[in-house]
Amino acid sequence: MNNIKYFDNAATTKLDEDLLSIIKKYSVDKFFNPSALNCFSTQVACDIMQARESIANLIGADAKEITFTSCGTEADNTAMLGALRGFKGNIVTSAAEHPAVFNTANFLKSKGVEIRYVDLNSDGRADVLSLTKLIDENTQYVSLMHVNNESGAINDIKTLCEITKRINPKCLFICDGVQAYGKIPVNVKNLNVDFYSASGHKINAPKGIGILYANNKVRFNPLIIGGGQESGLRSGTENIANIMAFAKASQNAFSSMSNSNIKYLEIKNTILEIVTNNCNDFYVLCEKDNCSPAILTLMFKDIKTEVLLHMLEKEGFIFGTGSACSSKNKTGRIISALNVPIGYREGMVRISFDKYIAKEDAAEFALCLSLSVNNLRNTIRRG
Ligand code: PLP
Repeated sequence: MNNIKYFDNAATTKLDEDLLSIIKKYSVDKFFNPSALNCFSTQVACDIMQARESIANLIGADAKEITFTSCGTEADNTAMLGALRGFKGNIVTSAAEHPAVFNTANFLKSKGVEIRYVDLNSDGRADVLSLTKLIDENTQYVSLMHVNNESGAINDIKTLCEITKRINPKCLFICDGVQAYGKIPVNVKNLNVDFYSASGHKINAPKGIGILYANNKVRFNPLIIGGGQESGLRSGTENIANIMAFAKASQNAFSSMSNSNIKYLEIKNTILEIVTNNCNDFYVLCEKDNCSPAILTLMFKDIKTEVLLHMLEKEGFIFGTGSACSSKNKTGRIISALNVPIGYREGMVRISFDKYIAKEDAAEFALCLSLSVNNLRNTIRRG
């Protein structure tokens, strides 16, 4: 396991080791229930408040606007289900959304809400003009992601949100920020979104923790009802260890963001140079200026990515083939939505970075990837 060179950080990341002591501290020493009245519990409740404040500061929010959830999916679901005012009217979203949003929209459709899908550019960004045509006085909200988990494309959320509010000032804007949080600068007030979701395990925090930002002017119903934790917006005894670890991981990610991104762009260039020099018939799904620095997706002609995956696995390299949650679903919904040319549809290689990536490993990976693609194509031609 130690020899594995991991390039699938958009699926999940490994835990920052400096979080282990925090997790232990809040699981063993300060394990108290924050809702109890003893002085130790009160201290833990204060610690959670500090974690909330520090996360809020990173994205330009107020602490009261941050709700801790169990994951990004729960945050997306809470916004979409909690903000809905009856199963009526329409909502606008895109076919490139993560299943956490796409399948929630499908659920709403089954209950009678009309779902309108915005047109997409070839890299997965929502088309601004198309959005203007979809919103009307019956649109309850628009739900569009910040960074696409398959292509890395960055939606111009500020403009999309501006247009939404101009056409229908009452229409809410929900943004799935899971692949953006800690990777690119985010200021929720500047973006002017009503809801914004993030998840811990994409930024070297534990799995099982997320946040939902909700603008304090917006009311929403909780998804989980019970003891009234998180100001009644998300009941259930708080996962203190994960909350505290997520706050620290967020600090780590935001403070190292600009340096990390410089490194990722260098690595992207190295990979592209090596693959270009050694391989043909491929293209980059999303070009640099529109793309998250942490994701590089290559589309190879006449390649079945699953076969390639197993070839590279044997050499100790792991890459992504798309959303981990839907990789067993062969239809490739997002790839189809992006109008990827037929011959390239099955050859998607998503390479995604975190701060532990070494430049030398990336160069080794790129060469191994190119040679494996060539071998595979030769075998197909001979066969
Ligand atoms: N949204 C996007 C864009 C994602 O990439 C993911 C996870 O891959 C999620 C939502 C779901 O987050 P979580 O795994 O924390 O539920």
